[in-house]
Amino acid sequence: MKIAVLSRNRHLYSTRRLVEEGVNRGHEVKVIDCLHCSMNITSANPRIHYHEDVLENFDVVIPRIGASVTFYGTAVLRQFEMMGTFPVNESVAITRSRDKLRSLQLLARKGVGMPITGFANKPDNVPELLKMVGGAPVVIKLLQGTQGIGVVLAETRTAAESVIEAFMGLKADILVQEFIKEAGGADIRCFVIGDKVIAAMKRQGAEGEFRSNLHRGGSASLVRITPEERKTAITAAKSMGLNVAGVDLLRSSRGPLVMEVNSSPGLEGIENATGKNVAGMIVNWIEKNQAPWRTKTKGRG
Ligand code: ADP
Repeated sequence: MKIAVLSRNRHLYSTRRLVEEGVNRGHEVKVIDCLHCSMNITSANPRIHYHEDVLENFDVVIPRIGASVTFYGTAVLRQFEMMGTFPVNESVAITRSRDKLRSLQLLARKGVGMPITGFANKPDNVPELLKMVGGAPVVIKLLQGTQGIGVVLAETRTAAESVIEAFMGLKADILVQEFIKEAGGADIRCFVIGDKVIAAMKRQGAEGEFRSNLHRGGSASLVRITPEERKTAITAAKSMGLNVAGVDLLRSSRGPLVMEVNSSPGLEGIENATGKNVAGMIVNWIEKNQAPWRTKTKGRG
């Protein structure tokens, strides 16, 4: 197969591993930086130009689109879809999962458990918003945040009101969430490929930190997940339409709650914590499932 890895940096761990495993299995693998692609949208014969080349005859595209280039990256991916290339994750599914509100709404529709979440656009009824999620303590999240930045625990009502008013005053989009105390500063990352959770790790926040992000000093270890957690992760990935996804769960007293579904889950943390060849499993899944024009939307979504 001829495989394109849509990634801005060939030296990133995840990109390197996908290339390595693809090449090991006899495939031709090329890393494409989406920001260097230009496209002719108007023609009935869609094309992608890349530096001096025209990209043609790719069987598969593996999108690894960073949050900061979602808009252009998904446009390039859509162009591949319009040329019949099989996308490991479709552009529409990636766009859904990148929108925190839209993805929570989709999960709710499928009956997936999640922390009680409220959002509002105007600060005129902050007490009502807090009441809706069960009152303090609450977690307040900036919608644009990643890696735990812009995720704040407000322990009291007055703290929560001040933080919400401050964020809203800055015209930042936020959501307010019930604080799942019993998660104990840990979350579970389930790595989903197709309809299976193929690896899972527990991330524990540093001492005194409620956020478990590895970038915030958290540590990762292998974990056994329950059948309910497995089912929840698979349903969450499916409801986004993602074939490869990292589903983050909190362990709560009422069962697993989904926090986020990530469409470009990192490979370094999960491969190191579990000792599994996750990149190889992605390539295996591609070999079994890829076919030209096999997308739900053909770039039309
Ligand atoms: P980001 O997408 O920036 O990583 P998250 O929403 O995943 O932000 O939050 C970062 C971390 O904060 C999570 O991994 C989790 O450990 C903790 N956390 C987030 N929301 C809650 C919550 N409602 N209750 C308890 N802990 C939470």
